[in-house]
Amino acid sequence: MARGAELKADPSAQLRLLDVQELDARADQLRHRLASMPEHADIAAARAQVQDLDNLALDARTRVEDLTADQEKADADVEVVKARRTRDRDRMDKGLITNPKDLERMQQELVSLERRISTLEDEEIAVMEQLEEAQRELADFTEQSRAAREKGAALVASRDAKTAEIEAELATIAAQRGPAAEGLPADLLALYDKLRASKDGVGAAALRARECGGCRLSLDAGELAAIRAAPEDDVIRCAECQRILVRTPESGL
Ligand SMILES: [Zn+2]
Repeated sequence: MARGAELKADPSAQLRLLDVQELDARADQLRHRLASMPEHADIAAARAQVQDLDNLALDARTRVEDLTADQEKADADVEVVKARRTRDRDRMDKGLITNPKDLERMQQELVSLERRISTLEDEEIAVMEQLEEAQRELADFTEQSRAAREKGAALVASRDAKTAEIEAELATIAAQRGPAAEGLPADLLALYDKLRASKDGVGAAALRARECGGCRLSLDAGELAAIRAAPEDDVIRCAECQRILVRTPESGL
């Protein structure tokens, strides 16, 4: 049963309330678009990715530094043993060792030094290979981080452009809403605001082709008869959804 008579408002004020409702609905939609822009999640994801890649690059940089030190040490170790080999060879070449036993010991030492040099050089090569791998990783992560940053910056630019566009539309609507609501009865607006808050942003709907524009349900003959009989300044409420039901020329009454 459609109820009226609790509140009165001039029919023209009721029609203007529909204009206000339309502006409010458009503003709600725009605010929803602002909040639900895919860029928000994408920007957060890009930032997280940059953070991850920067951490990986930092780890790789530390490995490069450590392996560079290892490589320098391995190099120095080889040089020490090679210097000793040179010294031994010189002593032998200059005939400084004449005692056969000393000579034999020296030859054994040279064999052992060759082995040692070979082992150290193998180690040095292994370290260099690890160092090259770490350098490749560092370059990769640095490049990936740069690309992720670039992607993030493009997303921010897109978000900002869309935001500016939507805010400009909101400003236009706000400028229209003031005049549209001006002079509407305070009790009508208060009821409208209360309903809007509790009914998905729709406080007032047109009765169009015997249907409530708020809940989309058709009114039965009895309800339509009651509405038809009600004074035109009665504020009608939908029996189903309680929204303000505004009679229009297309109401089908
Ligand atoms: Zn309804």
